[in-house]
Formats: sequence, C-alpha cells, structure tokens
Amino acid sequence: MMRETLSVKQSVLQNSNGKPQHATCSNTRIPYHEVAMWQSEIAYYRTRFPEYAPVLDIAEAVLREQDALAEEQRSRASPVTVPDLLAAAGRLAAIYPDGPALAAALREALTGDAAAQADPLVWARDLVRGRMPAAVAGLDAFMAALLVPYYDGLRLPNIVVPDAPTAVCSACGGPPLMARFRQEDGATVLGCAFCRSEWLYPRTVCPGCGVDDPAAQRFFYVEGDRGHRVNVCDRCGIYIKAADERVMGRAVALPVEDVVTGHLDLLAAEAGYRRIGV
Ligand SMILES: [Zn+2]
Ligand SMILES: [Zn+2]
Repeated sequence: MMRETLSVKQSVLQNSNGKPQHATCSNTRIPYHEVAMWQSEIAYYRTRFPEYAPVLDIAEAVLREQDALAEEQRSRASPVTVPDLLAAAGRLAAIYPDGPALAAALREALTGDAAAQADPLVWARDLVRGRMPAAVAGLDAFMAALLVPYYDGLRLPNIVVPDAPTAVCSACGGPPLMARFRQEDGATVLGCAFCRSEWLYPRTVCPGCGVDDPAAQRFFYVEGDRGHRVNVCDRCGIYIKAADERVMGRAVALPVEDVVTGHLDLLAAEAGYRRIGV
C-alpha cells in the first residue's frame, strides 16, 4: 500500500568520518526518559503530522501505563510470577486494538511452557530476542512493550561506551529497539528495547552479524523524510531503524520514534528483512 505513494531510495552505507566512533566519546546523560520528554516528542508529532494521531494516542497510553507499572515494580520485593505478568499484559492489552488477542496468545503460551512458569521474564526476553518463534504475529513486539516496566530499574543513567562493539544491552541483555545518530556529533547510539539504556555503536558494523562489510550494508528512507532511515544488512538479513537527530534538528525519544516509523517496518518486511532481535 505504501509503494504507490512513497518512493524509496537506497544507497551504500557510508561512515561519516571514516573513523570508529565507539572509543572516543565521554559519558553523556540520557535525557529523555522523563515523562516530559516523551510527551513533548508526542506533542511535536501531533502538531506536525495530524495523521499520526491514532498511533500517537496508543503510544501515549502505552508509555503512561509502562510508567505506572514501573513505579509499582519499584516497591515490590518478590519475583515476578506468571499471574503478575498476565495482569500487566491485561492492562497493556486494553490499549492496543489487537491487545485482547495478543493477551490470549500470551496466556496460552505461558501456561503451556514449564520454562515460562519457572521464570516468565527470561522466557519473555528470549521470545523477543528471537530465540523462540512467536506463536502469533505481533506477540514479540507486545512482549517487548510488556517487559519495559520490569527492566526499567536496570536502566543506566549515562550512555555506555563499550570496550568492543555489541548489539546487546550491557545492563539487561536486551536487543536494541532503534538507533539514533546523536545531534551533537552524529555518533550512533543504540537504545535498549527493554530497559532503555543506551550505548555507542560503530556506524559501519552490522548490529545483527557484527561484521563490518560496507558492501552488505545499505539503508533506505522514504522520500521527503531523511530523518528516519532503515539500515539493512544483506549478510544476515536484519534491519534496524534509525533516527538522525542532525537532520531533525532535535534530540529524539526512541520509543516515540519507533511508533511513528511503523511504515518503515512494513517496507523492510516487504523487502524481506527481519527486525533485529539479537
Ligand atoms: Zn537493557
Ligand atoms: Zn548483518
């Protein structure tokens, strides 16, 4: 449906300065996990793109519910049980149009699996990381949203500078949700899909296979929106979306960027790439 109205450009992925970007940056605080920041990001898109209102309504409600669940989680001492997770799933499911079906699929998967009963958070994490097939389309994305409040307490306050390139969150083991090219220097920053910690990553290395192969890595964007792109790798077939803050002229909140770039997920899937799960 997008192909009729949008043209997509592809080009070889280039490193902006030809140097590795992971070794030199100092700690920078992550500013936008405050409610005010994602709210202002949502307000920005509401004003500029009224057609995004339906997805922004959902995103805002989900972010608010995730915050509430994270707050409740902070005061609990006991491990998370299957009933806990199902109760939280019910609250998030009430927001998504396909939420009831996803919550039912989750209930079925959790009750029939001994590993899930033993540690539902680890089970859910492995599902999102692509180590288990999702029984129902969209279940992995729903699980990722559901895990956010439980991993929230692990979030690191500063952007991590790993010793070696890694696409796995050092705080919680989660996969990246998206990348952003930092406004001040263009460095690539990956944001965790679970705890929302961030870390630096070299621009030319694929986060799926870890190989620096410029011939295999390309990106595409939709005509008229150079601020959002999809980086794809023809070696391993994964893609990761990225927001270029230098093009957009502002710092972004990745959970909101992920929502307003749903059309890029469709285009990437149509082209045969699968979203990074790590
Ligand atoms: Zn994490
Ligand atoms: Zn790759």
